[in-house]
Amino acid sequence: MDVVRGMKVVGIAVAMALGGITASAQERLELFDAHLHYNQEPNPFYSLDKVLETFRRNGVTGILATSRPNKGTHELVDAKAPGLWVVPFIRPYRTRADIGTWFDDPAIYELIEAEYKRGYYRGIGEFHIYGNSAAGPLVKKIVNFAVERDLYLHAHCDEAALLHLFAHNPRAKIIWAHTGFSTTPARVRELLDTYPALWGELSYRGGITDGAGKLSDDWRSLFLRYSDRFLLGSDTWINERWFGYDTIFQNYRAWLAQLPIEQARRIANGNAQRLFGPRPSN
Ligand SMILES: [Zn+2]
Repeated sequence: MDVVRGMKVVGIAVAMALGGITASAQERLELFDAHLHYNQEPNPFYSLDKVLETFRRNGVTGILATSRPNKGTHELVDAKAPGLWVVPFIRPYRTRADIGTWFDDPAIYELIEAEYKRGYYRGIGEFHIYGNSAAGPLVKKIVNFAVERDLYLHAHCDEAALLHLFAHNPRAKIIWAHTGFSTTPARVRELLDTYPALWGELSYRGGITDGAGKLSDDWRSLFLRYSDRFLLGSDTWINERWFGYDTIFQNYRAWLAQLPIEQARRIANGNAQRLFGPRPSN
């Protein structure tokens, strides 16, 4: 055994002794992007080919696809790109202005009903909702629509709105976009304890690492308990996020590599497979 190989074996032995082999010792993880917008108002920033190449370059083999309007999602589904699993969600917006009014607009309910008829949707979202805006009758109707059809909700919301959504129908399945941005890890943990059908999507989520990229103790222990409840996302809501796409996923890979491999695999793509699978072969 040569010296380098010997050191490697010792390194792996140390990692295992410290609580399992870490993701850094493994090959490149496949990633699922659970917050992808392919917006087109009226034209997309990247052509479909360029978007697909961006996924390939980053090892992204699955996406939770949404767009404003829903045309971008139709294109991603229709592309049937080899090696890419598209999980489409209905976006309840026609234009950006709908973000502030959708929850009170009967035309949006009709939009959701009409889109659903395409037959391939797995959820509704991402939608934005705050505080008591979530308490209204139209939101309740949409939550019930989702529960009756076994659809997930992808909610960009504060905690007050999250509680309203679950109060409308305790059987709701909610992916919390950005995991509350800055809600304390202790509170996130309590919410995960209370609501077994709540998952946290981590785009823009603060506090996971320190300034040097080291995983924080709070998040390490949250992942230790709940690595089955988190998803990664790019949130390509503006063009800058497409420029930064590689960096976003390099940053994810950097902290995933600090976790035990089983936890890293769940967050990288295993949870998406459990939620939306089985993955079709294409
Ligand atoms: Zn968002």
